[in-house]
Amino acid sequence: MPPPVFRFAPSPNGYLHLGHAFSALLNSDLAREAGGRLLLRIEDIDPTRCRVEFETAIYEDLAWLGIFWETPVRRQSEHFDAYREAVERLTAQGLLYPSFESRTEIARLVAEREKAGPWPRDPDGAPLYPGAARSLPAPERQRLIEAGTPYALRLDMAAARARAKHLAWTEQGEGPAGEHGTVPARPEAWGDVILARKETPTSYHLSVVIDDALQGVTDIVRGQDLFWSTSVHRLLQELLGIAPPAYRHHRLIRDSDGQKLSKSTKATALRELRAGGARPADIRRLVGLS
Ligand code: GLU
Repeated sequence: MPPPVFRFAPSPNGYLHLGHAFSALLNSDLAREAGGRLLLRIEDIDPTRCRVEFETAIYEDLAWLGIFWETPVRRQSEHFDAYREAVERLTAQGLLYPSFESRTEIARLVAEREKAGPWPRDPDGAPLYPGAARSLPAPERQRLIEAGTPYALRLDMAAARARAKHLAWTEQGEGPAGEHGTVPARPEAWGDVILARKETPTSYHLSVVIDDALQGVTDIVRGQDLFWSTSVHRLLQELLGIAPPAYRHHRLIRDSDGQKLSKSTKATALRELRAGGARPADIRRLVGLS
C-alpha cells in the first residue's frame, strides 16, 4: 500500500491564526502517525485578496511550529490550465451555463423573491442563485459574451444531480451536528454554484477537487466550516471520474465569545503570539493538542 497523503491548504489572504495552527498540526500529526506524506498547497486563485507577503508568512509560521512539508509547494495560481480543462469537460457534458447578473442585480432579485416568503440559503447562509440564466436563449448568451459582459459559469445542479443520484462520503471526523460515518451528500443545498468566472477560470470548489486528485491526496483533514462543501466536492468528483478521498472534519477553534477566528484578528495570529513570547509547545496546548 502506498503511504497515505495528507495536505494543508491555506489561502494567503491574511496571517495564520490558532485555527490554522490546529489544522496544520493535526494534519502533520496524523501523517506522521500513519507513516504518510504531508503536502502544503497555497490556494491563491483570488488575486484581489491574496498577497505574497502572506504566503511568505505561512512558510515562516509553519516552519516555526515544527511542521515539515514536501516541496515543491503547489500554488493554484500556476495551474489555471488544469482548471480550464475541467471546466471544458463539464461544459462538454452540458452541465455549465453562464449567468450575467451583477451582485447588485442578484441582491435585487433575492429581495423580490423574498416578498413571497423566505428565499432558500446555502449552508454558509448565502441566498441560492435566484436568476433564470439557465434558460437564456443561446443567441442572447452569445451576444452578451461578445459584448464583453462579465459572467459566472454555474453548475446546472438539477442536471448534475440527475447524473449522480447516490452520493455520500466517509466521514472519519465529525460534522457540525455530530455527523459521522457514511454521510449522504446534499449538493442541491448550494443551488447552481459558481464553478468559474470570466476573469478566473476556477473557484474554490473546482480547484480543491482537481488539486486533491492531481496530488493524490487520500486523506482530507480540514475544519468543520467546510463540512457541507464536501457535498459539492463529491458531486464534482463523480462528474469528473475522480475517486473520493477519506474526509475528517475537525472542530473549529473559537475566540472567547465563541466566534470563528478571523484572519484580521491580531489576538490569535501566530506571529503576534510568537512576538509575545509563545513557544510552539504553547500553541499546541492552546489548541488542545498534547
Ligand atoms: N483554502 C481553504 C481555506 O483556507 C481550505 C481548503 C480545504 O481545506 O479544502 O479555508
